[in-house]
Amino acid sequence: MIKKNNIKLTKLLKYYSLINYNLIYDNKPINRFKNNNFDMTNKNYKDHSLKKLKISLSNIKNCELKKNANNLVFSDGNANSKIMIVGEGPGANEDKEGLPFVGRAGQLLDKMLLSINLNRKNVYITNVVNFRPPQNRKPSEDEIARYLPYLIKHIEIISPKILVLLGSTALNALVGNKEVISKARGKWINKKIGKCSSFIIASFHPAFLMRQPEQKKMAWIDLKMIRKKIRELKIKVEK
Ligand code: URA
Repeated sequence: MIKKNNIKLTKLLKYYSLINYNLIYDNKPINRFKNNNFDMTNKNYKDHSLKKLKISLSNIKNCELKKNANNLVFSDGNANSKIMIVGEGPGANEDKEGLPFVGRAGQLLDKMLLSINLNRKNVYITNVVNFRPPQNRKPSEDEIARYLPYLIKHIEIISPKILVLLGSTALNALVGNKEVISKARGKWINKKIGKCSSFIIASFHPAFLMRQPEQKKMAWIDLKMIRKKIRELKIKVEK
């Protein structure tokens, strides 16, 4: 019943965002075309969809990841950004704080972003799985498959122009299992994710770069490609 009502509400919100929502029919005869408080902007629609997605994820059932985790790690950054970054999954620090990329890998990610004038106020960050895998292991195939529909929905809601996949888990989950990160990185990947067509690029995960710092030069090539694409697409980046 709740699910049915949610679907109805989502459809209604979508509809109001398509029409001129200021002209809402009011059955009080004197104020037929009344500008009531129902401000259904694109931003509100996005906020509402993100809230709903977060609730669905926090209500996930029979999930070993959730059972062992302290917090849901949903996202960080600017939901209106046209640049979305997808990592693998939360580690211990992220699990503690409920935010992605706040540990050592996150500090490196911040530096990488800064090198092309980006930061958490102008990008949006999430992960393939939203609860910490125990002992920081990689999420299993089944776990990835379980969280994939949520990730696709997440991407559809944010609707980024540029989608950055950090590491093989994000690459394999969203582009395909046959891809190898060292070969797939540094190229624009042409693939629709759900209803969303973005410029997709894969690059090395910051945790991998901490283990293999000599690969940072390749990551720098990828970062410059992202910077160039931001310019080409005339994406406004808030400072
Ligand atoms: N590594 C990830 O992939 N995601 C995080 O949030 C932190 C570390």
